[in-house]
Amino acid sequence: MNIHEYQAKDLLAKAGIAVPAGYPAMSVEEAVAAARKLPGPLWVVKSQIHAGGRGKGKFKELPPEARGGVRLARSLEEVEANAREMLGNTLVTVQTGETGKQVNRLYVTDGVDIAREYYLALLVDRATGRIAMVVSTEGGMSIEDVAHDTPEKITTLTIDPAQGFQPHHGRAVAYALKLDGAVNKAAQKLSRQLYDAFVALDCSMLEINPLVETAPDSSGSGRMLVLDAKVSFDSNAEFRHPELESLRDESEEDPMEVEAGKHDLAYIKLDGNIGCMVNGAGLAMATMDIIKLNGAFPANFCDVGGGASKEKVTAAFKIILSDPAVEGILVNIFGGIMRCDTIAEGIIAAAREVDLKVPLVVRLEGTNVEQGKAILAGSGLAIVPANDLGDAARKIVAEVKKAA
Ligand code: ADP
Ligand code: MG
Repeated sequence: MNIHEYQAKDLLAKAGIAVPAGYPAMSVEEAVAAARKLPGPLWVVKSQIHAGGRGKGKFKELPPEARGGVRLARSLEEVEANAREMLGNTLVTVQTGETGKQVNRLYVTDGVDIAREYYLALLVDRATGRIAMVVSTEGGMSIEDVAHDTPEKITTLTIDPAQGFQPHHGRAVAYALKLDGAVNKAAQKLSRQLYDAFVALDCSMLEINPLVETAPDSSGSGRMLVLDAKVSFDSNAEFRHPELESLRDESEEDPMEVEAGKHDLAYIKLDGNIGCMVNGAGLAMATMDIIKLNGAFPANFCDVGGGASKEKVTAAFKIILSDPAVEGILVNIFGGIMRCDTIAEGIIAAAREVDLKVPLVVRLEGTNVEQGKAILAGSGLAIVPANDLGDAARKIVAEVKKAA
């Protein structure tokens, strides 16, 4: 699950991490009210969407020379005008794809006098089985570009979760960022706080870009502040964090994936035209592979799970078909816990209920497979039976070509 920047900063602030003050706003009025609560004279009005690159993004509805999704404002009038221009419009960034995302929420925050911008991210590194902390002196820009053009400017530390964050990790971060004096100390403390928050919240990713050093104040030194925050939570740990559920913004998620979640189906939308309905994640992966091997592309990953009921199968059919790109469906089910005859009845009922118009190839294997196949054959529906995985993939690819 992903959350908005303002929600992420709220969580980080609760963990004692330094973030600029700010308030979310759902309307122009709320944006102005939020700005009034802040001291000024510089405010930043930030579009809240689940995607980065907002600053350099473009609004579809505005002329190309209009400003992006993160805007400085020097008066309450400017806050108001910017909020009005952004709310309800579609922001296209390098991360949204060309459809963009509608801006429904803003974050009005203190404008910060930035001396330097840095990059700091935490993520679960599956290769080492550890948490990786990635830091760079090149903040505020796309880290992918930095990794491509100047990889030597990126430092990666791995932290053994059994040992936790050690003082030497903090020193390594401050050293990599080339910090001295008070900001060096501040970076050590901040990196530990971010690690602790990452673990406590069961994040899969926590990206601060930019982490900033502010211009020196009267004490002669700057502060280290989190200026942007992107957080993803590990969905396998969601049950441990009921408090985070209210942060979900379904309008940011794929509507088909939201619907699938309600039926306890694992569904992920992909770019191809062959809908897949499979039980078990391993079999689903193999099914997608073999579709590609036969020269076509899967429209989705869909795992209906071990005990797929008629209701679940129907829900899966509806979700798969609601994708206009789907030109054929491949059902690949292994009847282990569920018997093939029960599955066959579920498929027929679902196909009738949704008034299936695209070709359907079904491969059944497992308990009572012969009865299952007989039920499908006797249904009067145009279901193409398949004998094994390869046969099924060849047939659905051929059927879709024929129908085109
Ligand atoms: P995104 O990464 O989506 O473009 P950021 O929050 O990183 O959004 O903002 C983009 C840039 O805008 C930052 O790199 C920073 O230079 C500037 N910026 C963001 N927030 C502030 C702020 N509170 N004060 C001053 N400048 C800011
Ligand atoms: Mg950023």
